[in-house]
Amino acid sequence: MYIRMLKLRLLNAIAPAYFFTATIVTFGLHFYFFIPTIFQTPGTQLSAATFFHIVVFLYLMLNALGNYTMTIRHPAESANENVIPMCSPDCPDRVDAHYLLNGRHFCKLCKKVILKRDHHCFFTGNCIGNRNMRYFIMFCIYTSCTCLYSLVLGVAYLTVEYSISFENPLTFLTLLPLSTGYFFLGTISGLQFFLVLMLYVWLGIGLTCAGFCCQQVLLVARGQTWCQFRRGQLVEAHSSWRANLSDVFGTRWVLGFFLPVQTVEASPSDARKHD
Ligand SMILES: [Zn+2]
Repeated sequence: MYIRMLKLRLLNAIAPAYFFTATIVTFGLHFYFFIPTIFQTPGTQLSAATFFHIVVFLYLMLNALGNYTMTIRHPAESANENVIPMCSPDCPDRVDAHYLLNGRHFCKLCKKVILKRDHHCFFTGNCIGNRNMRYFIMFCIYTSCTCLYSLVLGVAYLTVEYSISFENPLTFLTLLPLSTGYFFLGTISGLQFFLVLMLYVWLGIGLTCAGFCCQQVLLVARGQTWCQFRRGQLVEAHSSWRANLSDVFGTRWVLGFFLPVQTVEASPSDARKHD
């Protein structure tokens, strides 16, 4: 039990570091390699294509990082409970949290009581519950878009710079094993091998985030959390899918879809009081 908890704590520290490293690398690759090579223009003037790419990339990044920050800034903890509940020795719950009443959980990693807890997100180092679910879903959508956009630009860069053709659909299946072999034989540069690796990282994160986002939206529409789904608990209050979605996404959801702004009102009963 202690070893598993230690592993989770380690993951809670490594995952945000991995996220920030991947973000910095993606930034660097776009501005130092992709833009100057793919959109080459004579002279120092910025072409329309270059400008368009910079705007799209920065917009996607702004939304991904903005919603990441909002997920952390608006935690789903209950501000009214300061007493840490004790877990009984025969607690059947998972190692990271145990179930209290009324959909509340005590997260052992956050050390807080979480309202309508969905899961603990290691990349943000926070629990996802009723207050930050909307930001978390938007974070997943924009991270997925940023990764898939980077993948397209990465493929274009490899085609322009290294004359790798992606016309054959099988190229993507053989690219990694062949590049690994060529790298150890000294045929291709370290940068080319690294770029090939990044294509698979972007594809992996992009598809995972998209799939995860679809799952979360379906659960939200049903009015269920991942915790309840895993425990086989049925939906407590039957509301329409529209009411469930507006409960999570707030009334100004259209604005929140395009910009990382606060659209979910904090409930006055649970608002933090600094007296
Ligand atoms: Zn947590």
